[in-house]
Amino acid sequence: MKRNTKTTRRPRVVARNCNFCHTKTEPEYKDIAILSKYLTERGKILAQSKTGVCSTHQRSLAQAIKRARHVALLPFIVRV
Ligand SMILES: [Zn+2]
Repeated sequence: MKRNTKTTRRPRVVARNCNFCHTKTEPEYKDIAILSKYLTERGKILAQSKTGVCSTHQRSLAQAIKRARHVALLPFIVRV
């Protein structure tokens, strides 16, 4: 019997609670305390589906993290 994918597929629940929209701030490369919340323990940038940040701020957040890495405020990789 063929599996009905339409009924078995679960709806994608994405929590939309963008902290930057809520506080009306923009991600800045100097705010390491805020930026480090959006990194894994190995120093990778978390996906939008995990962070719940809106697409506009996710883009500027990734750019801010990359800038912070360039000026050595954040690590590129964390060796475990
Ligand atoms: Zn936002």
